[in-house]
This record gives sequence, structure tokens and C-alpha cells, in this order.
Amino acid sequence: MEPIIIAIDGFSSCGKSTLAKALAKRLGFAYLDTGAMYRAVTLYGIQKGVEVANLNDQEISKLLNEVEITFKPDPITAENITYLNGKPVEKEIRGKAVSNAVSEVAQLKEIRKRMLQLQREAGKNKGIVVDGRDIGTKVFPQAELKLFMTASPEIRAERRYQELQKKGQQISLEEVEENLKKRDHQDTHREENPLVKAKDAIELDNSHLDQDEQLNFVLRLLQEKFA
Ligand code: C5P
Repeated sequence: MEPIIIAIDGFSSCGKSTLAKALAKRLGFAYLDTGAMYRAVTLYGIQKGVEVANLNDQEISKLLNEVEITFKPDPITAENITYLNGKPVEKEIRGKAVSNAVSEVAQLKEIRKRMLQLQREAGKNKGIVVDGRDIGTKVFPQAELKLFMTASPEIRAERRYQELQKKGQQISLEEVEENLKKRDHQDTHREENPLVKAKDAIELDNSHLDQDEQLNFVLRLLQEKFA
């Protein structure tokens, strides 16, 4: 497969990263989790005790200069782990505090500007699957394949709840539902690059599809488009 960019956008917890990772593995591509980047910045603000949304552009820019986000594969699972300033933060960035604050931080223009630069840099050689909210519309509008993923809110909440339970996080199904609803609203209503389906994106509703079916759906699309 020639190196292309595959952009996967969609609502929170509808399986974007699971599909993106499976695709990247199958195609031998890199994988970039842009949500993890916004989460890492949010975590940094929390660690510093700073209300990022109250900072001015200059202060945000200064804060961002103190943040280095990297990804390295876990030696055992081979899954990418997010590092913030050299420390693994995968667990913290998926926790309640970050999940509740991230969409507000992700609305900020200065933050989006810097993330955009980093994301474009990461994809400059192509051969990458990138998931997020504005990948096909803003970050890589020239991506060769764009997917827009959806699933019913109940199914998304249940999946997310199960995932967090497995990770040992103390959270109720109601809290998960509330968090997803709030993030969906913030992500679709913000001024800077809101979540919208790109005109040329292919919609994938995976409410009733298992992981293999989703992967096969995309592999078929790739074959049709690039064979
Ligand atoms: O994908 P994930 O749920 O980890 O993303 C966390 C949050 O980061 C989203 O709710 C959204 O507010 C923000 N985000 C974004 N643009 C992206 C990726 C994530 O605004 N490209």
C-alpha cells in the first residue's frame, strides 16, 4: 500500500482509536492519536494548578513551550503510550479530571494552532492513520481517505463505561453519559474547527458492527479506491 493519510473523525467514544490502531497495524502505517495530545496539554494545566481557559494567548503560548508530547510503544503490548515531558501519562490522561476539562481546553485558538503544527509535522511523510475531530476538515484536508464515525449515544456510553471499568476507573454509567454529551456539544459548537463531517468523508456508523467488520469495511474501501 502506498503511503497515504487516513483521517478518522467522529464523536467521542465511537471506536475511532480502536479502528485507527487496527488499520495502522494492518497497513504498517504510523498512528497518531490527536485526542491524546489535547488530553496531555490539559493534564499539564491541571498538574500546574492553572486554569488554562483563563490564560491569555501569550500565557498559553508560554505554557505550550513547557510541554513536550511524545508517543512510544509499550514494550509488552506494543500499543502507543503518551508521554508528557518524558513521563508516561496514559492512565492520567484517560482519567475523570482530564476527560471533564479537555474539551474546554481544546476550544482555545492558541492551543489548536500549536497542535495543528505538531500534527502536520507528524504526518508530513504520510503513511499514517490520524484520529480526532478536525483531521479531515482542517489538519489534513488533502487526506486520501476520510472517515466520519458515528454510533448511537447509548452504545458509545456503554462501550466507554466497559473500557473504563476494565482499566479499574471508578465511574458510573451516568457520569460517562454526561461526559460524552457535554464533550459532543462542546466539540460541535466551538468556534475553532468544530467537529463536522468533511464533505468527502465516508460515514461509518458502527453501532452494530464488531471490530473485524469495521476493519474489513475500510480495507474494502481502500481496495476500491487504490487497487
Ligand atoms: O479523542 P478523545 O476523546 O481522546 O479527545 C479528547 C478531546 O480532545 C475531545 O473531546 C475534543 O474536545 C478534543 N479533540 C479535538 N480535536 C481533535 C482531537 C480531540 O478538539 N482533533
